[in-house]
Amino acid sequence: MELSRGQRRCAYSGHVSNSICQYTIRNRSPWEEDGGPQTWNLDIVPELPDIVTYIGALEKRIVGRPLWRIRIVSPFLLRSVTPKPQELVGKHVTAVTRMGKRIVLEMEDELFIVIHLMIAGRLRWKESAVKLAGKAMLAAFDFENGSLVFTEAASNKRASLHLVRGNSGLAEHERGGLEVLDSDLAAFRGALMSENHTLKRSLTDPRLFSGIGNAYSDEILHGARMSPVKLTSRLSEEEVERLYDAVREVLTKWVQRLARETGDGFPEKVTAFWPGMAVHGRFGEPCPDCGSPVQRIIYAENEANYCAKCQTDGKLLADRSLSRLLKSDWPRTLEEMEVHRTVRRDDQKSEDSEKVKK
Ligand SMILES: [Zn+2]
Repeated sequence: MELSRGQRRCAYSGHVSNSICQYTIRNRSPWEEDGGPQTWNLDIVPELPDIVTYIGALEKRIVGRPLWRIRIVSPFLLRSVTPKPQELVGKHVTAVTRMGKRIVLEMEDELFIVIHLMIAGRLRWKESAVKLAGKAMLAAFDFENGSLVFTEAASNKRASLHLVRGNSGLAEHERGGLEVLDSDLAAFRGALMSENHTLKRSLTDPRLFSGIGNAYSDEILHGARMSPVKLTSRLSEEEVERLYDAVREVLTKWVQRLARETGDGFPEKVTAFWPGMAVHGRFGEPCPDCGSPVQRIIYAENEANYCAKCQTDGKLLADRSLSRLLKSDWPRTLEEMEVHRTVRRDDQKSEDSEKVKK
């Protein structure tokens, strides 16, 4: 795309803007003409459509094939003790599935490889022999036709790998967020109404809903014609239904769209910015439905994009009462939520093992 006067392209997200790239507010934008980012820690979190796209690409490459070798470089990556990596070598991959945002490689003999990308974790596919060098490379799963490489481009390593035996072991990795694409309206209503929060926060809370982050929640709320700061307790039955339809429509549309974009290739880039998004990452640009400029709320390292005309009866969400509301009810970062949960689970585990010892 040709840049017009005053526009710049963020080297990380590819987002073109006159203002600061929304994902880099904290640290100033890593503009391309300044050489781009060296180490850049951004909250572009893989969301459900990204994970589904990875799974589709993996199915084509590794289902039915035996695992030749597992290489784990980072000592922090592997969070399980048994089975040992060696036990999985030689087993065939029978399926690639998803548990929330975790990617599961199902192997023969009820063995499972559970990959959690967290924020900066990514997967790559290399057809030729790959040497694991550089800090970002965490592990490789080698097959006869290529290697699945697990990377994490962040100094703060959060991504994780679990090797699991048996279906009951796998069930421990269930996080409880609702899979909206597999759920009916009643289940959706139940999850949504279980806590009273702003819609933006409820949709992005992985305890309530699986796989929806900052990008797709903006798109969903635009699709549903609802304000990001509307409280769940204020929703009418008709609005709950409209939101349910929008969640399914937006996620399905983007799953299909990303599958088309990827084709037979392997998804090389997870980005929160796709041309064709209605409002997310499009501050100041025209709403595709009504032409009004897309608005934003910036709060606590987060940004929500919305169209005032389509979603808030033309009201700009920027007054003091809003700030107060947001202070108490803005989606904490996904990072915070996930870490909190992991810590709690680990505490529980060590308590359990204490009990066993006694
Ligand atoms: Zn609009």
